[in-house]
Amino acid sequence: MTEAAKASVRDQLAAEAARWTCPHGRHAGQGCVACYHASGEADPALPLWQIAVWFTSPRPMPIKTLKDVRRHGRRFALDQPSTPLVYLLTGQARAATGPEAIAGLVGFLLENRHIADAFTVTEIRAVQT
Ligand SMILES: [Zn+2]
Repeated sequence: MTEAAKASVRDQLAAEAARWTCPHGRHAGQGCVACYHASGEADPALPLWQIAVWFTSPRPMPIKTLKDVRRHGRRFALDQPSTPLVYLLTGQARAATGPEAIAGLVGFLLENRHIADAFTVTEIRAVQT
């Protein structure tokens, strides 16, 4: 690989990271507690996002925990697709940008460690509705 090609890959990675960074400088997939709190009192004029976050957990989560998320998070749902230890957290939130919406949803997991004390986000998606 040439020096120029390496630089361009690096630039792309940097651009990609910036594209997914919330206003508090955190990558959306890492989650942001500040974004989570902001989403709770978001301006109704802000765009509404349909968000999906896939993550893996080192341990299986009890069905009760999955059900509790809907009650606790209200706007969110936690489901287990067919793959073991892979979970899908979905929800709707108002935020200025997609990364902010995702950071807020992952922030919900950060804030509620009893749901998943350890998790690794593998895929994130936000679509403006
Ligand atoms: Zn944030």
